[in-house]
Amino acid sequence: MKVQNPATGAPLAEVVTDNAKAVRGKYDRARAAQPRWAARPLRKRLDAIAAFRGLVETRLPTLARTLSQEVGKPIRQARNELNGLLGRLDFFLAESARTLRDERVYANAEQKLEERITHEPLGVVANISAWNYPYFVGSNVFVPALVAGNAVLYKPSEYATLTGLHIAEMMKAAGVPEDVFIPVLGEGATGAALLRQPVDGVFFTGSYDTGAKIAASAGRRMIKVQLELGGKDPVYVADDVDVGAAAVALADGAFYNTGQSCCSVERIYVHEAVHDAFVEAFVAEVKGYTVGDPLDESTYIGAITRKPQLAVLRRQVADALKKGAKLHLGGSAIRRKGNWFAPTVLTDVDHSMAVMRDESFGPIIGIQAVADDEAAVDLMNDTEYGLTAGAYARDEKRARRILDRVNAGTVYWNCCDRVSPRLPWSGVKHSGIGLTLSTYGIQTFTRPKAWHLKSA
Ligand code: NAD
Repeated sequence: MKVQNPATGAPLAEVVTDNAKAVRGKYDRARAAQPRWAARPLRKRLDAIAAFRGLVETRLPTLARTLSQEVGKPIRQARNELNGLLGRLDFFLAESARTLRDERVYANAEQKLEERITHEPLGVVANISAWNYPYFVGSNVFVPALVAGNAVLYKPSEYATLTGLHIAEMMKAAGVPEDVFIPVLGEGATGAALLRQPVDGVFFTGSYDTGAKIAASAGRRMIKVQLELGGKDPVYVADDVDVGAAAVALADGAFYNTGQSCCSVERIYVHEAVHDAFVEAFVAEVKGYTVGDPLDESTYIGAITRKPQLAVLRRQVADALKKGAKLHLGGSAIRRKGNWFAPTVLTDVDHSMAVMRDESFGPIIGIQAVADDEAAVDLMNDTEYGLTAGAYARDEKRARRILDRVNAGTVYWNCCDRVSPRLPWSGVKHSGIGLTLSTYGIQTFTRPKAWHLKSA
């Protein structure tokens, strides 16, 4: 498989991908190695993750450069991702022992009865991953999975293969046995071949369409399936906020990572009393963004990682304009080598337009005026997705009334596009099932075993 730089089209590397037979061989190795890994004391498994963290920190500049070149992410944002990874690793290192320890939930001396719960690893798990934040979405799965005693067959996205190889190399150097964390390389067909193996769990991050296929294929197998899928994340701006500050924050929420975040702000509803002032401040902010070479320190908007996404963005803009939207900025691909789309701001949009209902996954935003909070809540809930949603309002009670009624895995008051290792990351509706992060996202890689113990 050829790996290309999406910002220039230049070849970066060629890698050997795994055919069905190779995938089977990797599965067999993982199956054989897993019991020994699970038998290692938790402390030793955590030592390996701590060593992995040390390697990430030492190699951070090189890793950031590869990531930037491979997915077109601005270099500063690539470094942010790696620094964020260090924070997530710290969370797992600090919380895993407490979360996974055996629990005594009942004891009765008279009856000589004790009830306990232990947290057993699932076994061999498949981790099929996305490219947009490969360190984040990968580590949310493979780190707690390994800590819990599982072997991991890790399929990085075909658009983040070199990063996947860096991760595998660091895991090995950190002392995780080569047969316990195994990269599986290739495109969708390789992912499908991986799912044909008798794995004990599937942890997927990617699009709804692929997630639905994976859920269907795993349906009869009675294994754990977790799907972290797309979003169409809305934010409402009430009429009592500092409009300028909200515009700056929401422009960043929409355009950071070139709009290619699962929790990017994808729709903005603004109270009609402040709509025009908000749009003016928002457009001024976006005009100030530097679009250019991802390796340049001043770049804020990088390349579109997957070429086919350009057509999706073009179609959404054309559809919106045909139905009466107003274009303030951008609206088309940028003519230069590689995959580029100009930061695009649309107003006078409504829910008959794809740009307000389907995931854009690029530097496009639609801003719609609403009459009141009620109308905002109705529109926020009017998509198939439910990953995150936010409200900008001065009054906390008002924000809570809105966010209580929004159907999403995560809600934000006066912030957006934010993930915390301490909080569960999950979606509802087409945004997925299951969760990662938080202590629940450690336990999710285990099977609770119930012990009824009666002494003679
Ligand atoms: P994708 O669905 O195209 O690919 C994801 C992975 O699935 C890749 O590794 C791919 O090779 C593999 N794959 C493709 N077809 C397969 C098949 N039939 N069987 C098994 N594996 C298969 O998604 P993507 O373009 O990599 O990622 C973008 C999407 O991911 C967006 O929708 C985004 O919102 C979502 N995402 C969600 C989260 C979250 O936490 N909810 C995080 C990041 C990205």
